[in-house]
Amino acid sequence: MSITHLLPEVGDPQLTDRELGNLRPFIQKISQSGLLDSGLSESGAAISESAAAIYEVASQCLASAFVTWSHRMTLEYVDRFGSAELKESYLPGLLAGDRVGSTALATALADRSGKELLPITFRRDGDEFVIDGVIPWASNLYSDTLVVFAAREPETGERALFATEVGFAGVALKPAEGLLALNATSSGTIRFNELRLGNSFYLTSNVNEFFARMRPRFLLLQTAFCLGLSSASLDSSQLADGRLPFESDLDQLQGELNQLRAEWHRLLELQRNFAAISLDQDVLPYLKLRLRAAVLAQAATRVELAAVGGRGYFVSHPTSRRIRESLFLSIQAPTEGSLRWEISQQALKA
Ligand SMILES: Cc1cc2nc3c(=O)[nH]c(=O)nc-3n(C[C@H](O)[C@H](O)[C@H](O)COP(=O)(O)OP(=O)(O)OC[C@H]3O[C@@H](n4cnc5c(N)ncnc54)[C@H](O)[C@@H]3O)c2cc1C
Repeated sequence: MSITHLLPEVGDPQLTDRELGNLRPFIQKISQSGLLDSGLSESGAAISESAAAIYEVASQCLASAFVTWSHRMTLEYVDRFGSAELKESYLPGLLAGDRVGSTALATALADRSGKELLPITFRRDGDEFVIDGVIPWASNLYSDTLVVFAAREPETGERALFATEVGFAGVALKPAEGLLALNATSSGTIRFNELRLGNSFYLTSNVNEFFARMRPRFLLLQTAFCLGLSSASLDSSQLADGRLPFESDLDQLQGELNQLRAEWHRLLELQRNFAAISLDQDVLPYLKLRLRAAVLAQAATRVELAAVGGRGYFVSHPTSRRIRESLFLSIQAPTEGSLRWEISQQALKA
């Protein structure tokens, strides 16, 4: 399956890491291809179709692959945990790509790991929830974007998941500019100031269930963009004039990519369809795969630069772009630090 013809319509796709841009047309096109429906409740197709699409997009443009992942995961949360009203109002638009989804759960992951307290609070006021606080980073932020995030009740410590539109009163946005890469992802900081949400925007308070069910797919679709980038980098190295001194490194990196792809396919099969997602899934293999895939992308792009030589150091060269993109993989939640931390904690428990 080639989806190259779907790649971003933001002018020169080579610029999506360096210049602010709007990837909505791309999200709409890839949504309309039907590839992102796979693995959802109404689809008979396996989630590996969505994963393969993200992989292929990442081999051309990580910014586009990353926003596709964020949009696709939002579909997943609304499909599985959304109220009937939320589904009715938002799911058709999200599926068609007329509306964009944003996954803003990094703070919730840091909260769960014990690293830092969730910086967003909620309180009940009659039939409404009142939300305050800051999401330091989220992407795909347009005024009609549906953002999924977590908040805590300060008195009881209860955690809950909600959705909101960026354009609602009580939501303020500060766009992020001047990033090392991924500048076209419409990323930024969201501040909630007495945002009022009705019950239909409440997803669940069963945060353990939410993450137990969602994390494997979350990690597998992230692994898709790590592996897609690695594969493009290794292909580029194989074509480089200076590849000879690096042949054994490239063989070893290619071997690692093949192993990770095999493990990725194995785990994707376990997550195949909507009904396959159970509560008692062991997340460890998914965490390890995501970490190894990110590390591989960085190792591959470093060798690519050495093989390509000085030309690859120009900011406009695809090699240089891939290096910038690969560095993002260490700081995208779950970050390299948090992956290493969680894997080590699980090893202590075993
Ligand atoms: C361009 C861009 C777009 C983004 N888009 C999104 C988005 O759409 N959605 C989203 O949710 N987030 C998004 N993020 C945020 C991202 O997911 C991370 O949350 C953020 O980059 C992590 O920053 P941090 O400094 O807190 O790193 P962390 O790794 O969380 O913290 C820094 C250090 O703390 C240590 N540490 C980590 N975990 C633990 C622990 N449990 N215990 C002890 N020490 C620990 C490690 O040494 C780590 O290196 C985006 C970020 C960027 C740059």
